[in-house]
Amino acid sequence: MPAQIIDGKALAAAVKAEAAAECATLIARGVQPCLAVVLVGEDPASQVYVKGKVNDCAQCGIKSLEHRLPESTTQDRLLALVGRLAADPAVHGILVQLPLPAHIDGQAVINAIPPEKDVDGFSPVNVGRMQLGQPCYLPCTPAGCLRMIESTGTDLCGRHAVVVGRSNIVGKPMAMLLLAADATVTVCHSKTQNLAEICQSADILVAAVGRQGFITGDMVRPGAVVIDVGINRGADGKLHGDVDFAAAAEKAAFLTPVPGGVGPMTRAMLMKNTTRAAARQNGIEL
Ligand code: NDP
Repeated sequence: MPAQIIDGKALAAAVKAEAAAECATLIARGVQPCLAVVLVGEDPASQVYVKGKVNDCAQCGIKSLEHRLPESTTQDRLLALVGRLAADPAVHGILVQLPLPAHIDGQAVINAIPPEKDVDGFSPVNVGRMQLGQPCYLPCTPAGCLRMIESTGTDLCGRHAVVVGRSNIVGKPMAMLLLAADATVTVCHSKTQNLAEICQSADILVAAVGRQGFITGDMVRPGAVVIDVGINRGADGKLHGDVDFAAAAEKAAFLTPVPGGVGPMTRAMLMKNTTRAAARQNGIEL
């Protein structure tokens, strides 16, 4: 039987409705949730992502402040802006769109975002808290993936979850979240041997590699839940995931599409992190 498609847009709409309700509660208590988005340079993909985030804020009632800086911006100038946003009590979340130009040390910029305003969940404090299972802002992409897996009704306890990719923003935190949900987790990367064999034993397979069609149909275990994080611009000019969608759909029980899968969920989780940040900074329980 062909896989059931996990509708990222519909799930994202539900999460954004939650964020909108939280936002309305906060506004009624005199707090206008506000996200500052900083974009350095002209990277076309980053511009699309920022536009999407700003639109989502508008849909949820969150105020967004866009700071667009030229490619030539110095690290000191960017750090000064982050410092001003950090000190502004009307700003609850700060998002610096990655990647930054090569002359800027991205980690230094992320380190300058106070943990309580780090709604991307990338700062060392939030990463550490996540590892320890303490309250924190979860990074939006893996948090969205987990929500998508949960939406299938799959019980993760004791199941084998395979994450292909070990980046700090997707693969590693995804593995940690699956581990926290009691899955048995294998993390694969470019040096992994017998990758196909490992993937074939996955009850849950998360692909975050950045290569179109990298996960072929034979790598998918029949009945698996397959989450495709990849966003790749194909030779046809369209967006494609890391998974060979048509082939995987013949084997998997559940599968996310690209586009319309993990992308919208990532943005929706950002909205939730922003309303939570606004609530926490004002001592309000949602
Ligand atoms: P990175 O390039 O940072 O990481 C890619 C990972 O894939 C690395 O860990 C790398 O291994 C691994 N890899 C590369 N080649 C192979 C291989 N042959 N076999 C096994 N593993 C391999 O990418 P990101 O994690 O930032 O992003 C991954 C994809 O997800 C991209 O397409 C990106 O655009 C997309 N993305 C989508 C988001 C969304 O909202 N939907 C959000 C963020 C990213 P190694 O560490 O050994 O180099």
